[in-house]
Amino acid sequence: MQTLIEQWVGEAVVTTYDQPTGTWIFVAIHDTTLGPAMGGCRIKSYPTPTDGLRDAMRLAEGMTHKWAAIGFDLGGGKSVLAVPRPLTGEDRRGLLRRFGALIASLRGLYACGPDLGSTPNDMAVIGEETEHVHGYDRTTGQLLDPGPYTALGVYSGLRAALRHVFNSDELQGRTVLVQGVGDVGEPLARMLSEAGAIVLLSDSDDPKVTRLGKALGAACVASDAVYGTQCDVYAPCAVGATLNAETIPRLACRIVAGSANNQLGEEADAERLHERGILYAPDYVINAGGATALPLLGTGHDPQQVRERIRGFETTLTEIFNEARSRRESPFHAAHRRVARVLATRRAKAQSTSQ
Ligand code: NAD
Repeated sequence: MQTLIEQWVGEAVVTTYDQPTGTWIFVAIHDTTLGPAMGGCRIKSYPTPTDGLRDAMRLAEGMTHKWAAIGFDLGGGKSVLAVPRPLTGEDRRGLLRRFGALIASLRGLYACGPDLGSTPNDMAVIGEETEHVHGYDRTTGQLLDPGPYTALGVYSGLRAALRHVFNSDELQGRTVLVQGVGDVGEPLARMLSEAGAIVLLSDSDDPKVTRLGKALGAACVASDAVYGTQCDVYAPCAVGATLNAETIPRLACRIVAGSANNQLGEEADAERLHERGILYAPDYVINAGGATALPLLGTGHDPQQVRERIRGFETTLTEIFNEARSRRESPFHAAHRRVARVLATRRAKAQSTSQ
């Protein structure tokens, strides 16, 4: 743990051990150049506490990239509650309230929201201790579901990708394979279907995908047939690392645009896609709809305006795709350069005003 912290390029790590539940709590604050840190709270069991800290640091850095890429004045942060076992009932409630008190003590330096293993309901419990939490409407108490907003961001980014590749964002007649029909994949499939796309669905949960397939009149693709299936767009909306040295040579699509986090198995996979002429919409940009919506909706912003803002990803991704085309590189690199530019500009501005 000591080595991890010594070598980290982030700003701060707040750590404590929750004795009643045996949980290690990590809050990693990577970069607050653009504003106070904001990022989800992951609740998960790890082989060792150090793995939990490593995950928090990696995810916090990812949030810095996400906010900068979409032009949101927030910094990168993430928290991990490394639980020794699944926690329910009063155990869970107690942990969340003590975690909420820890966030309160940071006085706005970090705000959390739902992530893998945590729910909007958990956020409401944390909210009993601190205002620096998102995932529910503070005035009405209504829990917020980020999925449909993430789906809207993917839909908007997907249109930008279509225009870039085919000179038209018309969905009528385009084939889109949605892998994973959960909180994001299902609303995405519905939007695509309404817009006239030929939607193909795949999910490891057979009854679920069959049900949605029937409702939309969409064909279902077996999990092991996804990568070889002919389509215009492959939309990974299930798990990470589906783009790798083994799957990329088999892809039969022109575009990859989906919500899954960490879609590339490794950085070299961006090159592999580029060499095959497949346009890749960087995951942390195209899947930022939910992250954008929660802090805004929870503080009383008009949902219509929030949706407009998310539709703006179409412009953001168009800029990224154009920069990548002009440099004959993967959009993965163009997105990273955009992030570096945004942060450098803000740092220079802060320096000049402090002089
Ligand atoms: P979810 O758990 O609601 O849905 C995931 C779906 O994928 C489920 O239906 C599950 O059965 C299916 N699935 C799981 N493993 C699979 C596999 N190997 N092959 C095919 N299907 C599989 O999750 P979600 O909230 O819809 O998120 C989907 C992805 O998008 C995740 O990677 C998540 O990290 C990412 N993401 C989600 C949001 C959000 O707002 N929910 C935001 C950003 C990123």
